[in-house]
Amino acid sequence: MSSKRVYVAYTGGTIGMRRKGSVYEPVPGYLDELLSRMPEMVAETIPEIEVAESVPLLDSSDITPSDWERIARDILDHQDYDGFVVLHGTDTMAYTASALSFMLEGLSRPVIVTGSQIPLSEPRSDARDNLIDALTIAGHPEVVIPEVALLFNGLLLRGNRATKTSADGLDAFESPNYRPLGRGGIHLTLYKNRIRNRLPGELRVAKLDTVHVAALRLFPGIEPRVLTEVLREPMQGIVLEAFGVGNAPTHPGIAAAIREATARGVVVVVCTQCLRGSVNLGAYVAGSALADAGAIAGHDMTVEAAMTKMYWLFGQGLAPDVVKQEMERDLRGEITLPDDPQRAIL
Ligand code: ASP
Repeated sequence: MSSKRVYVAYTGGTIGMRRKGSVYEPVPGYLDELLSRMPEMVAETIPEIEVAESVPLLDSSDITPSDWERIARDILDHQDYDGFVVLHGTDTMAYTASALSFMLEGLSRPVIVTGSQIPLSEPRSDARDNLIDALTIAGHPEVVIPEVALLFNGLLLRGNRATKTSADGLDAFESPNYRPLGRGGIHLTLYKNRIRNRLPGELRVAKLDTVHVAALRLFPGIEPRVLTEVLREPMQGIVLEAFGVGNAPTHPGIAAAIREATARGVVVVVCTQCLRGSVNLGAYVAGSALADAGAIAGHDMTVEAAMTKMYWLFGQGLAPDVVKQEMERDLRGEITLPDDPQRAIL
């Protein structure tokens, strides 16, 4: 067995559930029992692990921002380990991976978030492969990824770029706007040039206050009062999931609702409903009206990244102007800005 030590924070999710009739349910201690029976766990490439089980084990639909903070602090408190694996339900895994990427400031070790679509206890489970890949990466003796990444079905994705794109496929996650950090085939290949360098400073996790943020998906015929209602106090910020490159209905009531809210300091970030590509509020009248009303572009951020980033910024008590500014900056590799030196837009 490898001499590396990996701390496994088991939060719940399908991976460790047991079948009860026609449904799956989390059972305390059950995952540990299954792991102890896996012969692969003593292989040379597998690090020594300690599994810490959350009480209670959660379906990830029940995960809240205070759980993100709890997981981040748990990692902070176990700095004597070489790497971390977070076992999590798939439904909100991309939110947790994004949130952790912002919360774990000064991260120097791998934090690999994974889970499965089928429990480890079932014959056709994808849990074994996901778990083994995650442990191998988190405990690798030479290549250290100082990032929060999401491992699923042979793809290692930057956590804040991942999104769940399949409800029932084993290839449940994609990173539509950033290439994978690694891929599993006969070998596990890591693409070093896509992995971020560690940021300076010691690991720290800020204490976060309660935050009021929301996401709203636009739809044809949306009435302005829907926006007015959502943007009411105490809302601090919203992610507006707009059409295409960031368009909204040109009904003057829509822009008016946004103008009124941004004047009060509400931060409105425009993301796209499309899976791929970036927001450009200057392309159409339907988008520039949003910018004129004080909304800002989320560029190619996923909604999960935009939501959790805003949560983290407001949670630290930052003023709306500062939040706005930071939302348009690349903090953890979550966003591709139009002036990215790696690209030329002709
Ligand atoms: N409902 C489960 C969860 O997110 C689904 C899964 O883990 O795949 O916790």
